[in-house]
Amino acid sequence: MSCWVCGFVAPGGAVMSTERWIVDHCVGLLGVGTLIVRPHRHVERVGDLDAAESLELGPLLQRAAAVVDEVVRPSQVYVSLWSHQGREPGHIHFVVQPVTEALMARYDLHGPALQKAMFDTHERQSDDEMAAFAERARAVW
Ligand SMILES: [Zn+2]
Repeated sequence: MSCWVCGFVAPGGAVMSTERWIVDHCVGLLGVGTLIVRPHRHVERVGDLDAAESLELGPLLQRAAAVVDEVVRPSQVYVSLWSHQGREPGHIHFVVQPVTEALMARYDLHGPALQKAMFDTHERQSDDEMAAFAERARAVW
């Protein structure tokens, strides 16, 4: 199965890139300000991360969430991983999603139900919005 995550370039480019990880804007349907933290290497299970990748992961997730906090000022930042491609394990990518009071009010939901509702609406943020956020996040990082 070909992997769309390997080598993918999100609108606005990388917010942060290390030798092992890249952080960029989420192209899914989770709204402006949602970042993705993914390994450069094709890894399908968190348990398959190597020692060096594992050491970087915690600080990288923390920093990504802190940057989202600083730029968006949300009620909460969700960090989740649902890496399936179809029903097969896919290239892991952690979602770092700002959830504001306005977002929760709009859907009258929070948590996984909010994420599902956002996917169900099929409302995708524009490439320009993603690129602009990536630029702001890069500056804060
Ligand atoms: Zn891949």
